[in-house]
Amino acid sequence: MLKLNNIYASYGNIDVLKGISMEIARNEIVAIIGANGAGKSTMLNTISGILRAKQGSIEFLGKNIDNLPPHTIVEMGISQAPEGRRIFPQLTVMENLEMGAYSRNFKFQISNFKSELEKIFQYFPILKERLKQTGGTLSGGEQQMLAIARALMARPKLLLLDEPSLGLAPMMVEKIFEIIEKINKEGVTVMLVEQNANAALMLANKGYVLETGMFVMHDDAGALLKSPQLRAAYLGEG
Ligand code: ATP
Repeated sequence: MLKLNNIYASYGNIDVLKGISMEIARNEIVAIIGANGAGKSTMLNTISGILRAKQGSIEFLGKNIDNLPPHTIVEMGISQAPEGRRIFPQLTVMENLEMGAYSRNFKFQISNFKSELEKIFQYFPILKERLKQTGGTLSGGEQQMLAIARALMARPKLLLLDEPSLGLAPMMVEKIFEIIEKINKEGVTVMLVEQNANAALMLANKGYVLETGMFVMHDDAGALLKSPQLRAAYLGEG
């Protein structure tokens, strides 16, 4: 579904991604594990078209997307729930969800919007109770749910999740990960960027480990979880 070929990306003179290649097949959950500053968000922003790759190519469903603007990439079926629950804090939950459904060439269809909303409420019933509340007043877990829900409103084929567990209590992490699993079972492919290696690899089919802009390991998630190297570096063992 998605193929990154030898991607380089930088901010001015600072090189962040140094030749990364990876693949995601339809219906998979792929975890990208890495410490602070490894380049995980940069990788997602490069896929979404927010940041241009300096070198390399990105293919989505057989088409090159590395020169397309972000809104076209969203229309093609990739949407991102950004790190830090970057919802619109002054807008209500409903308005945040409307923003997720909006894209430049997408004729806003009330019937589609309503059915999409109903689907969202099945995953996140709490959001239905919070529709008129402003985003900024939601709890951390609820904001994370809203960020994922907003991304889902664009009806993605591939959902990019940037650290959905960040700052959440273990029970909330468990809940969010259960929802991600459900979303995936309904046919959405998921790229899950996480520092929480254990939770991410428990959920994913396969994983890639990013260190200072390069992949240093990739394997089936089960195999990575057993890897002494990974356990020492990311799970504090050994
Ligand atoms: P974290 O988990 O802490 O968010 P990350 O793996 O997502 O880390 P990135 O946010 O991709 O890492 O950052 C990778 C590197 O790029 C870091 O050294 C960071 O300081 C740098 N960087 C990120 N955004 C910018 C920017 N807009 N301008 C300059 N440097 C940046």
